[in-house]
Parts: sequence; C-alpha cells; structure tokens
Amino acid sequence: MREYYIAGNWKMNNTASQAREFAEALVDELKDASAKMMIAPPFTALESVSSIVRGTNIVLGAQNMSHKEYGAYTGDISPEMLLDLDVAAVILGHSERRIVFGETDELINEKIKLALSKGLEVVFCIGETLDEREAGKVESVVRTQVTKGLSGVDEGSLKHVTIAYEPVWAIGTGRTATPEDANNVHQFVRSLIKELYSADASDRMVIQYGGSVKPDNVKELLDQSDIDGALVGGASLDLESFRAIALCKN
Ligand code: PEP
Repeated sequence: MREYYIAGNWKMNNTASQAREFAEALVDELKDASAKMMIAPPFTALESVSSIVRGTNIVLGAQNMSHKEYGAYTGDISPEMLLDLDVAAVILGHSERRIVFGETDELINEKIKLALSKGLEVVFCIGETLDEREAGKVESVVRTQVTKGLSGVDEGSLKHVTIAYEPVWAIGTGRTATPEDANNVHQFVRSLIKELYSADASDRMVIQYGGSVKPDNVKELLDQSDIDGALVGGASLDLESFRAIALCKN
C-alpha cells in the first residue's frame, strides 16, 4: 500500500520571517494529517523553517540543488549545505527549472544521483508542454524524461525517489488535467518503472500529480488508482487551502 504524499512548493515566496510564521501555523494545523507531508521554502527561509518543523510530521524540502558537491559554482547550493539545515528532501527537474533556467535531462540526472548519494530524498518532476500534448507526444516526452533522469539510479536508491507528474500547461494556470487524463499518464509512468526496474519498484513508486491542485479538485485526483499525492504550488501558500489538501485523505 503506497502512502499518500502531499508536498508544498513555495517557489520564490516568503521571506525568512514570513516563512517562520507560516510554518508555525502549518505545524499546528497539519498535526493530525495522515498523509506524508513536505514543504519546500526558498533557500533563505530553510534555516528558520527547519527549527520549526523539526520533530513534527512535516518533512523539510528544498526547491533545487547544485549538481556538484562544492567549488566554484556561484549562486549554487550544495547537498551538504542542505543536510546541515536538516533538509531531508529536494525537488529536482521542476518545469520552471527546465524552461526558465534551461536545465537539461542530463543535468537533472546528475543532481538526482548526487542527492541520492548524499541521503536526500528526491521529488523528481516530469511533464509535457501544451504543444507536446497537442502533438500527441505525452508518452514519448515522459519516457525520455524518466529514462534520462533516472539513468544510473539503482533499484535500492529508487526507493528514495518520488515522481511528480506535472503537465506544464497546468502549472499556475488554473487548468487541471482531468483526473482520468492524469491517471492515464501516471499508469504509463508506472509501467515505465516496471520496464526499467521491476514490478516491485513499480508498485512501490509514489507518483504525485501537480498542476493547479486546489481543495476543490484534490479529492477527485487522489481517488484515482495511480495518483498517490500532490505537488502543490500556489495553494500551498494559503493555510486553509493547504490544510484542506493535506487532510483530504484523512
Ligand atoms: C508546482 O509548482 O509544482 C505547481 C504544481 O504549481 P501550481 O500548484 O501553482 O500549479
């Protein structure tokens, strides 16, 4: 039985002091949630949020990480720096990193392997653009992203990977894939994990959906057979909304 996993990606929102206040409220509101939960504040707020979520049922995540351990990489943040703040998870391959910052499948693969080798859990984002969907390329795009992103990741390490399927056209747009359409892609991803690894790995793989998840659509999405949770952007910045999403399977 896979555990429901709800993650909040705060993106470039909340100063350290705003984040502290919000995290305190979240700890209180989410203490009875049965799902696994993670929040990913911006780097500058990790330290303040870390002390608040320590010992609670909320996992601390980062939104990105360098592909290198240390050195002359101006502006980058290493896995060691994250671990030092008790960060346990990192979101990699987000479409905003791919599209706005030009991250390639190869770079994302380097980051995934480095994060796993350092003991960080990875939320690995994949998903097609609207043009790719309209051209009938959803499966080929997702196949390439998964295959290249997980290249060289062994089955043992895969246990520390969650896949987040996030159709790019649904992120921050208010448009959501229908639960059936999303589930079809989740089933395809699961079959791909079986092909690349094993039936066991495929059954175990937690696959989150992301893209304008809100309190009023989350239940329908999570009721699908292969949707095991949500990666939430905008709605994770609102206490009531994130609470409703996190508790929807209680
Ligand atoms: C995201 O950033 O991963 C995301 C899904 O954003 P939103 O929920 O705002 O669409």
